[in-house]
Amino acid sequence: MPPAESAERLIESITACRLCAGRFAATATVHQPRPVVWFRPGARLLIVGQAPGARVHASGRPFTDPSGDRLRDWMGVDEPTFYDRDRIAIVPMAFCFPGYDTKGADLPPPPLCAQTWRARVLDALGQVECTLLVGGAAIRWHLGEKRLTQAVMGWKSQAPRVFPLPHPSWRNTAWLKRNPWFAGEVVPALRARVKEVLNDPI
Ligand code: SF4
Repeated sequence: MPPAESAERLIESITACRLCAGRFAATATVHQPRPVVWFRPGARLLIVGQAPGARVHASGRPFTDPSGDRLRDWMGVDEPTFYDRDRIAIVPMAFCFPGYDTKGADLPPPPLCAQTWRARVLDALGQVECTLLVGGAAIRWHLGEKRLTQAVMGWKSQAPRVFPLPHPSWRNTAWLKRNPWFAGEVVPALRARVKEVLNDPI
């Protein structure tokens, strides 16, 4: 059996990854890969996002945008807690901003990223107490469920180890209005679980 890969070496390799350079150069933004890598082994909570947006591409920190504000609100955590890598790992389905489609929406995460890195990152992270699947791409990959609303409605069958969530993007504000049970039922349960996981003595 090959020796376990060190997390430091893996983080360095992902940070240096340029596999999608050609794909990104062909988008309207003609940008270069900038992997946003935010995890350390030992984190209790794993957030599986989609892919960085343009603001995160610029900042180099995950969820430095209105989606992050909404996600932190759902979780009931402040920024210092959210960005504490010893407690929370943020591993999206792709580490780089994929660019925009013709309507100005973010392109989906390139599948090559998860194919190349995901199993190794999850291995390096080890066992986490709770995983938040944020948006359709994360839910599809981790649960094999293509219907986001069905997956989120069935949250009790996954909790407390996994919470399938809609993406907190402003684009989902209409979904949140159509599905008030999410704010009334799922968000309080999520906050309670996040508090429990983060407050557990290590
Ligand atoms: S999206 Fe993933 S595979 Fe593509 S360049 Fe970035 S780190 Fe590499």
